[in-house]
Amino acid sequence: MHGGEPRRRSSLSVTEPIVTGVMFPFASTAEMAEFVEERHRAGSERPDYARNTNPTRRAAECKLTNLEAAGTDLDVDTILTSSGMAAVNGLLLYVLKAGDHLVLSDSLYRVTCQFACELLTRFGVEVSLVETGCPDALEHAVRSDTTAILVESPSNPFNYCTDLEHLARIGRRCDAVTIVDSTFATPYNCKPLVHGINFVVHSVTKYLAGHNDLMAGSITGDLWEIAGLRGVQTQLGCVVDSHTAYSVIRGLKTFGLRMARHNANAQALAEMLECHPKVGRVWYAGLESHPQHLTAARFMEGFGGVVSFDLGNHETAAAVNDRLQLAMLGGSLGATETLVHQPWLLSHFDQTAAERKAIGIGKGLIRVACGIEDTDDLLADFRQALDAA
Ligand code: PLP
Repeated sequence: MHGGEPRRRSSLSVTEPIVTGVMFPFASTAEMAEFVEERHRAGSERPDYARNTNPTRRAAECKLTNLEAAGTDLDVDTILTSSGMAAVNGLLLYVLKAGDHLVLSDSLYRVTCQFACELLTRFGVEVSLVETGCPDALEHAVRSDTTAILVESPSNPFNYCTDLEHLARIGRRCDAVTIVDSTFATPYNCKPLVHGINFVVHSVTKYLAGHNDLMAGSITGDLWEIAGLRGVQTQLGCVVDSHTAYSVIRGLKTFGLRMARHNANAQALAEMLECHPKVGRVWYAGLESHPQHLTAARFMEGFGGVVSFDLGNHETAAAVNDRLQLAMLGGSLGATETLVHQPWLLSHFDQTAAERKAIGIGKGLIRVACGIEDTDDLLADFRQALDAA
């Protein structure tokens, strides 16, 4: 709630002011010269132009850093970006150069995969995909020229989880930067940096902001690397305005409360679905039946808000989704309202049937991104839809 905030606010207000100014003038030429010198030497917290930094954005970054690293001796910092994609792409552009080899887990967010496989390859980066959560596959994929490894844990839509300490060890061994997209886990459930991962990225659009009303992303990592990344962000221009930064801070005030409910709703729904006679398989890392339940339990305090389950065919899945009264049809996650969709129809639509089959995306698969509704109301909604279908 209070983390990352000064006890006594500069504005004396309990809330962070929304500083809208783009320019932050200097009192004298001497102050301007001193600022420029300090920024080149060590970086400066003083704002000069809003694409470089802004006080409201900086306040949000301090809160995000606190969530990833409070109570540890990690010397880290955070950059708030204009979207989750801007965070992932900005970081990859920062760590990679032509001729480098990038290893990605194969169930990565589709747009990240497209960025790497379609765009980065045009600039001479070689990309290998490895089976998510399979330590042997990772061991075999890395090479002496591997520069970075990016995984998503838990992954979409099956909640496959990565052994983060194993990943960090492999990264150190081949001198590759390790990056975890922890959007599905959030720092409430998992803190990858504590397990030796170099960078953690988030779509702040999701749980961290939490209300389906803004786009933002974040990168947290070593203090000096983040200082370097700030330069890349200034060049790319992928910054958020101060109103958005303020809304991120406001969302973070209730982050812990919301995450507890997201976790509880998903666990209860997964357990209910697992016992329902119409439901085939259920994928939720909080279930003992999940293939990576033990890995998830090692690295996560809770198992997140996303549950996937199989109803065997498109007709039944569509009938259930269309009968839901509370849950809405849509493809995002991490906000107050529960959202459902069939991945084959939305997130994985551009893949061929064979490609979808290879990664287990069937036409009866439903992904539920649990919101924070009352748990009994949510279960009743799914029960009535399943019973009637
Ligand atoms: N990473 C993950 C795991 C996501 O699910 C998403 C979006 O759904 C992103 C990154 C991209 O985030 P944004 O939509 O904020 O750009």
